[in-house]
Amino acid sequence: MEKVLAAVRVGPSKTEIRDFPMPEIPQDSALLRMEVGGICGTDVKMYATPPSKAPVIMGHENIGYIAKVGREFTRRKGFKEGDLVFVEHYVTCGQCEWCHLGQYRHCESTDWRYNPDAIRYGYTSAEKAPHLWGGFAQYMYLPWNAVVHHVPKGVTPELAGLVTPMSNGVEWSLFDGGVGYNSSVLIQGPGQQGLSQTVVCKQAGASLIIVTGTSKDRARLEVAKALGADHVIDVQKEDALARIVEITGGKGVDVVLDCSAGAGTMPILLGIEALKRKGGTMVVQGEMAEFPNFPLAKMTLKFVTLKSARGHSYKACELALQQLASRRFPLEKITTHTFGLKDVDLAIKSVGGHGVPDVIHASLMPWK
Ligand SMILES: [Zn+2]
Ligand SMILES: [Zn+2]
Repeated sequence: MEKVLAAVRVGPSKTEIRDFPMPEIPQDSALLRMEVGGICGTDVKMYATPPSKAPVIMGHENIGYIAKVGREFTRRKGFKEGDLVFVEHYVTCGQCEWCHLGQYRHCESTDWRYNPDAIRYGYTSAEKAPHLWGGFAQYMYLPWNAVVHHVPKGVTPELAGLVTPMSNGVEWSLFDGGVGYNSSVLIQGPGQQGLSQTVVCKQAGASLIIVTGTSKDRARLEVAKALGADHVIDVQKEDALARIVEITGGKGVDVVLDCSAGAGTMPILLGIEALKRKGGTMVVQGEMAEFPNFPLAKMTLKFVTLKSARGHSYKACELALQQLASRRFPLEKITTHTFGLKDVDLAIKSVGGHGVPDVIHASLMPWK
């Protein structure tokens, strides 16, 4: 019987290569031959501190070719064998309002926090048949309710691997932050997420883009400049707020995008100060359970709108894929590293800054 190799998270920071039976593909389903599984900061966290004890094939940013497809899947969804596709990690109910809006991340049947039977690629137990619920494997199983996008012609699988951070860039900066022509933007954190925001803001017509980082981000801040940042600031070497005040002529910025994941309360406090005097917008990833002395009075005084960054919609993915196809930015400066299946552990740790140095975006290529 044909087997599928997968890297399985079996405990905190522990991976084993296991094999699974090649699944039967019913008429309403398909099989994806994995090409690239993107690795992001969420993987770093979920690998070190898994939300459950179940064995999980991680990998939630998945690009591959449709290898087998049932007739009903093609009839309903339009995908055929050989198509290069991006699969969102949400497996939807297909019935609720959020699903009809293309806002699958809010569908309760995709969220394990509310629904113990939820299926999300990269999060769901590998004990649940047919087991292939993650991208760090040779194949992935696609049921009828998987959300699949065509990858435009001319976009390689590796470049397409950027679609998730790029679609977050579209969602957070354009849809949530309202960045557009002549906007001034502060982007905090020059990782793959902050750099993707930089590209999207530049494309949207922002007239001022400031990107901040720390001293270990020196190379990334250079990449930020190459992708369109007007100013970069090392917050450990300079007084960031004083620089922002100087750069904006005392006005402050229209929008703050916090991509500093895990850096604590400091970037949020800086963001509030850096916003213009009235009516700015701040988009945060809000990972702190507690925020002592949160300056709510100042938020009110400055009439700040605070929004929560939560993944991406269908529309954001489509725009991100078109962004990748446009070839207007040197995005190969972000896709820095590729790893094979047996190196999943090293790959995730490298994205977290504890492995191979200078990784910005890592592609897991299972056949490498
Ligand atoms: Zn991710
Ligand atoms: Zn739904």
